[in-house]
Amino acid sequence: MEMFCYQCEQTAFGKGCTKGGVCGKTPEIAALQDLLIYQLKGISIYANKLIEKGEKIDKEVVKFVEDSLFMTLTNVNFNSEDHLKALKKSQQIKEVLREKVNADVKNEEALYNLSSTKEEMLLDAKGAGIMYDEQLDGDIRSVRETLKYGLKGIAAYSHQARFINYNSDEVDDFYFKALSSMTDDSLKLEELIGCLMKAGKMSVKVMEVLDKANNEKYNSPTPTKVNVNIKKGPFIVVSGHDFRDLQMLLDQTEGKGINIYTHGEMLPAHGYPELNKYSHLVGNFGSAWQNQQKEFDSIPGCILMTTNCLMKPRDSYKDRIFTTSVVGFDEIKHIDKDENGNKDFSEIIEKALELGGYEEDDEVKEILVGFGHKATLSNAEAIINAVKNGQVKHFFLIGGCDGAKPGRNYYTEFAEKVPKDAIILTLACGKYRFNKLEFGEVAGLPRLLDVGQCNDAYSAVRIALALADAFGCGINDLPLSLIISWYEQKAVADLLALLSLGVKGIYLGPSLPAFLSPNVLKYLVDNFDIKPISTPDEDLKEILG
Ligand code: SF4
Repeated sequence: MEMFCYQCEQTAFGKGCTKGGVCGKTPEIAALQDLLIYQLKGISIYANKLIEKGEKIDKEVVKFVEDSLFMTLTNVNFNSEDHLKALKKSQQIKEVLREKVNADVKNEEALYNLSSTKEEMLLDAKGAGIMYDEQLDGDIRSVRETLKYGLKGIAAYSHQARFINYNSDEVDDFYFKALSSMTDDSLKLEELIGCLMKAGKMSVKVMEVLDKANNEKYNSPTPTKVNVNIKKGPFIVVSGHDFRDLQMLLDQTEGKGINIYTHGEMLPAHGYPELNKYSHLVGNFGSAWQNQQKEFDSIPGCILMTTNCLMKPRDSYKDRIFTTSVVGFDEIKHIDKDENGNKDFSEIIEKALELGGYEEDDEVKEILVGFGHKATLSNAEAIINAVKNGQVKHFFLIGGCDGAKPGRNYYTEFAEKVPKDAIILTLACGKYRFNKLEFGEVAGLPRLLDVGQCNDAYSAVRIALALADAFGCGINDLPLSLIISWYEQKAVADLLALLSLGVKGIYLGPSLPAFLSPNVLKYLVDNFDIKPISTPDEDLKEILG
């Protein structure tokens, strides 16, 4: 069985995964995901017609579309049953909307009715794949796919906010507009690029909503030291992005003698006072997601995967890794929520106690997190003075999604070579390339400021805008350079957000997206001066002159 997927940075040969995903996605899952996206487009054609008539779309439908987009994001769900369940639900939703619209609709995606068996669905999926329409203009395909991936990133952020009861109606409606625009053959390239820029605006919006949600629910992050070594005792490692899952687990493990560690993108949780108040939230485990198979190998504790990035679990820890939310893998235990979103973690808790945990503490090694926009800007006066008196000459935002390719050592080397009179802001899991190194201080401030998760690109933008305001200049006139690594589709959403804010001159790597056609790339270079990374020395020379 063949497949085609090129949505992430590690795609085979930088072109596309065709025999199986480098991520472990099978051709069967790839086909079911193609068909699910096809169904979402069909649903959106009907939903968009209702929106145009001024009608509201049921939030359960929004949630379904959002979760389905999220489950097709790289390293989220590898479970065929979950996909079949979602496909069946998509048909029910489509039928309800179709009846409501009650109009002559001609798009294949809207007219298609889901087949009843998996075998038939797999056959149907051939007509839903990215490369199915061989006649489609390469640039149109490129923009449609970029839009799709941006939308998946937006869905991931919105899912996280919605789980703590925050959302944006504008973003909710945009899913339907954007998905149906991907089926509209009358749209010219410029109009689709306009839609892409609108996706960037929606990405800013959803990150703003998530920022508000996290700041209000867990209080604003404050600088906090985090132990990155292990402690004696039974434990659970919590990976992914979802703070509500972490808090529910912290509540349910309180007083039970279980240590909770954050992992990967959960690290910024320590900076939030409402999460850091739990004394059994003891530290951060391991490093970035791509090292999980090695770092989880035979560990005497459990792992909870709340969002991406999940890799195929090895036999040595298959019995102790659990998924929740949209995450899934065949034969891996899954913890579902009840109708109020609450989850019962007793099974993972019992397993962690049974495994017994580590026998001894390792020596404590601490890193600093918690420099969201509020914490960083509470030092605004000191930062501005340090720039004015020449103690701080430049700011670098180095971060983004990390991945496994050796070329990513660029980011470590770059951070190491940043001059001592510069401040480094970082976010997302790209920080693991250098966040345990010593950077010291400049003008009384830490030289490395951890702004947070990938969605906290919004926080970095708030910091940059505040500095631009203080210096009476535009964001592109600041002594600020963005050195971004990308891997999956949240990074696409982040990039579109930055472009929609007019940020220019971003250094992007380690390689450029395979889904950008030469013309679309040229458009981005001409209009936004996007630069592929070269070597740290050359790029630093170009930036600092
Ligand atoms: S998500 Fe990435 S690695 Fe996985 S199949 Fe798609 S392109 Fe390949």
